[in-house]
Amino acid sequence: MNALSAAPVSKVAKRPRNRRSAWLLATAMLAVLPSLILPATARAQGLAGIPIVRDTEIEEALHKQCEPMWRAAGLDPAQMKVVLVGDKDINAFTAGGTTIYVNTGTIQAAANPNQLLGVLAHETGHITGGHVARDTGNRPAMATYLLTMGLGILAAIAGAPDAAAGLIYSSDYFATLTYFGYSRIQEASADQAAATSLEKAGISGKGLVDFFDTFRYQEVMSESRKYRFFIDHPLFSERIDALRGRVQKSKYYNDVDSPEALAQHAIIVAKLKAFMNAPQQTFIDYKETDTSLPARYARAIAYYRALDTDHALKLEDALLADYPNNPYLWELKGQTLFESAKVKEAEVAHRRAVELKPEAPLLQMLLGQAILAEEDKTKVDDAIGHLRLAVGLEKDNSLSWRLLAEAYDMKGDAGQARLAVAEQDFYLGQMKDARNFAMRARELLPKTSPEWRRATDIILASAPSASELQAMARQ
Ligand SMILES: [Zn+2]
Repeated sequence: MNALSAAPVSKVAKRPRNRRSAWLLATAMLAVLPSLILPATARAQGLAGIPIVRDTEIEEALHKQCEPMWRAAGLDPAQMKVVLVGDKDINAFTAGGTTIYVNTGTIQAAANPNQLLGVLAHETGHITGGHVARDTGNRPAMATYLLTMGLGILAAIAGAPDAAAGLIYSSDYFATLTYFGYSRIQEASADQAAATSLEKAGISGKGLVDFFDTFRYQEVMSESRKYRFFIDHPLFSERIDALRGRVQKSKYYNDVDSPEALAQHAIIVAKLKAFMNAPQQTFIDYKETDTSLPARYARAIAYYRALDTDHALKLEDALLADYPNNPYLWELKGQTLFESAKVKEAEVAHRRAVELKPEAPLLQMLLGQAILAEEDKTKVDDAIGHLRLAVGLEKDNSLSWRLLAEAYDMKGDAGQARLAVAEQDFYLGQMKDARNFAMRARELLPKTSPEWRRATDIILASAPSASELQAMARQ
């Protein structure tokens, strides 16, 4: 038995007493994980994290918007994923597979939902075209570490400016992105594929052309001043003209976004601005005289981020009086309460969010976390139930695994606790730690149980050495 496997899990997944500081600490650690915890060799190879931010409401809205376009492109929406990258630069990219990464900056730069959908359709065109981005540098760079970061969690680290800056402006991340680029032929082909799928879905392709036109002046800029998107997806006049010629022929060309789509876009933009800009900026952008839903929402978030709990709760309660069945408003209230150490009330709010939207893994996770923070042993099974639902819906959610480890530790189930830490490390790409915890879990779990087999799988997937394999065989 080595020192690590002998250590109690609580050493790894411990909750300090002061909840607010615990939360800040935990999230700050998560935020800088890719740059801090990656082994030196991995970093030398250019492996770097991408600052992923999570928000159920925005993820779901973007997914829904894309579904008809994806179907028209012959893709199964259930397999597709839009992942938000917390970055003010304009960019969208794919890394092979069925995931489209889109910068929050792109969403804010899109003048309307149709423009954003156009960009996402273009990326979809790279997927269906099987385009491999040109390898202009060190290729293993695309390993992504899906940090389980809620936008609210991102906000929580506002108190730790260095961590936040590291998260949003990680130089590793920019270095990663410089490795990508498509050829002119691939760009034109992705444009055409976008035009085809949008037309098939009965959607105008005008937004994509308008988006390109808006940034056309970028063509005359030097490479270093260009937005990322236009370095990797070079804009050139023939390209824009060819695309315009194509989409203008569509009978949907002059269609405009529905009032519902515009309202949804306004909420997404308000939420992103409020979570990612300084609260003072949000109060300027969304003045008190503006009583629209996006403005009220943005101001509530700004107060929450400014740690002005009383004002935040007042605005949230007023919003909930008007929209009692909005799970995301309950989520925001739950987060506000949780971070002001009102964990019992946070549980109530998060439970309401989960009742309204049970299939959302992040909402299940936040409820599990709130219950766990009450440190009430009679409630630990309930917390485990919700965290299990979270990882059942999203198995690579490392923060849910960390919380599960805490829950099993509280329950005194050492084998499950170690397996949960192994899962967390596994999905963070920390294979050595994953292997060590899985080895220890295997010793403690009933032989041939599904959990025991899972621990074995993690060890085998972690590239163990010959001696480690022998040790496993002896167990
Ligand atoms: Zn492209």
